[in-house]
Amino acid sequence: MAWPPLAAFGMGPFLEPMIVPDTDSAAGPPLGPVILLGVPGAGKGTQAQRIVARYAIPQISTGDIFRAAAGTAQGRQLAAYMERGELVPDELVCAIIAPRLAGPDCRRGFILDGFPRTIPQADWLLDFLACRGLAGPRGPIVVYLTVGYNDLYRRLAGRRTCPACGRIYNDFSQPPQRPGLCDLDGSALVQRRDDDPEVIRERLISYEERTLPLIEHLRRRTCFHQIYGADPVARVTENVFWALETCRDGAR
Ligand code: AMP
Repeated sequence: MAWPPLAAFGMGPFLEPMIVPDTDSAAGPPLGPVILLGVPGAGKGTQAQRIVARYAIPQISTGDIFRAAAGTAQGRQLAAYMERGELVPDELVCAIIAPRLAGPDCRRGFILDGFPRTIPQADWLLDFLACRGLAGPRGPIVVYLTVGYNDLYRRLAGRRTCPACGRIYNDFSQPPQRPGLCDLDGSALVQRRDDDPEVIRERLISYEERTLPLIEHLRRRTCFHQIYGADPVARVTENVFWALETCRDGAR
């Protein structure tokens, strides 16, 4: 199918999109679950926001769910792992995400950002989706964003997030119009605590040890697309949309 120009939904090269749900596209057949994979800093969160805007399906980010639990006893338990850059144990992650995936807003599809991160989590997810009839017409779609390690540090160290609306910026590649302030609501942007250099190192180590083996595991079990994530953000988005449509149409 022919895509409307990216500008039609608020994107141009190097510009952040307006997050406006595209209800025409949302009216198509269900997309099913979309799993975004990639090293921390590969752009999963940014691409997830754009998929939300186009397909009007929810983004489910385990990292965001865990951060939102701050202030509760469970939130403190989770924060202890996160602040060390370690992965939260699989059983705990699956127990927290299960009720979210069963929500009524997930029936047409959803985007998983940051989950699964280990082979046991992936196997749990594939079983869960199959048992509940949520696997989608062609099985889960995996979009694997690849970025060279040299780009990553700059991406993570420069990342800033709006605490009010969640929009993601980068001081180097996608700065806000006014330094330190969200373009949409003017809130002061914040840096995530685990984007500290020492914690970044630990996160990359746990990615290599625990998450990289997952790539081959899922490549054989899903509608899998590998996309180069270091291109300009708008080009990555075009490639991601193409991959989603290809899987939805059953071409692959
Ligand atoms: P993220 O926002 O996806 O980078 O996640 C932030 C942190 O939350 C990670 O460094 C982990 O400590 C924890 N976390 C998020 N998702 C998972 C997961 N699927 N499995 C284990 N730990 C996770």
